[in-house]
Amino acid sequence: MIKFDNVSLTYPNGYQGLKNINLEIPKGEFVVIVGLSGAGKSTLIRSINQMVRPTEGQLIIDDQDALSVGKKGLREMRRDIGMIFQNYNLVKRSSVLRNVLAGRLGYNNTLRTLVNLFPQDDLQLAMNCLDRVGITDKAYQRADTLSGGQQQRVSIARALAQKPGIILADEPVASLDPPTAHAVMKDLRDINKEDNITMVINLHAIDLSMEYADRIIGLREGEVVFDGKVDAVTEET
Ligand code: ADP
Ligand code: ADP
Repeated sequence: MIKFDNVSLTYPNGYQGLKNINLEIPKGEFVVIVGLSGAGKSTLIRSINQMVRPTEGQLIIDDQDALSVGKKGLREMRRDIGMIFQNYNLVKRSSVLRNVLAGRLGYNNTLRTLVNLFPQDDLQLAMNCLDRVGITDKAYQRADTLSGGQQQRVSIARALAQKPGIILADEPVASLDPPTAHAVMKDLRDINKEDNITMVINLHAIDLSMEYADRIIGLREGEVVFDGKVDAVTEET
């Protein structure tokens, strides 16, 4: 569970990115955050893994007081949170497989990765994750030779390799054409249902939100202005 209890976030320049956020996101929910550019969607999603840190209130993640776990606690907490970005954030010149394995902490700069020698278990795990998103055949290609949709699938596989309880996705389909965007949303949705991974996803496309979300949270100027099941949105509009 993720719980925001009166959370506010003021940036160092004084700008209030989040204002008194109160939210409870149960385990396994597929939540989409919508709002105009600048509404605070990135700020909200990034506050969950503390890429940006709330300045007031309480954030509870899986029964832990997330803002007071200390450095080591935060590292452990982040191990359970996969992150997906609009621009994939892959190591472009590395192979797909290496990118996926990089999701497992501690695998980034070891000698093993330099000589392409991965333990069999890890290879198997990485290939399984690539299989979940249908791109095992790309495993040995350089990441930057793949299409946008394929690169985003690599980043989903990388998140999965962490075996996370939560996946955060910041505009994951904003750089993709509509059919590819749908396909990637469907992958995320399938993974959510099959693995019971909590997903919190920023989208600016309301049609995609309505199609895939369990619940939609609307933000405006750092405040929650809508929070409801997709059926409720349909009734109002
Ligand atoms: P969205 O994801 O909805 O487009 P953001 O969360 O990126 O919105 O930004 C919300 C507001 O916070 C914007 O007005 C943005 O300019 C501001 N903001 C974001 N990051 C910073 C920062 N590091 N310092 C100051 N203001 C910021
Ligand atoms: P996005 O397109 O994802 O909303 P932005 O282009 O708004 O991202 O912001 C890119 C980076 O700049 C982010 O790390 C954000 O925190 C930072 N940023 C955004 N607005 C401001 C601001 N007004 N002052 C300082 N940093 C900002």
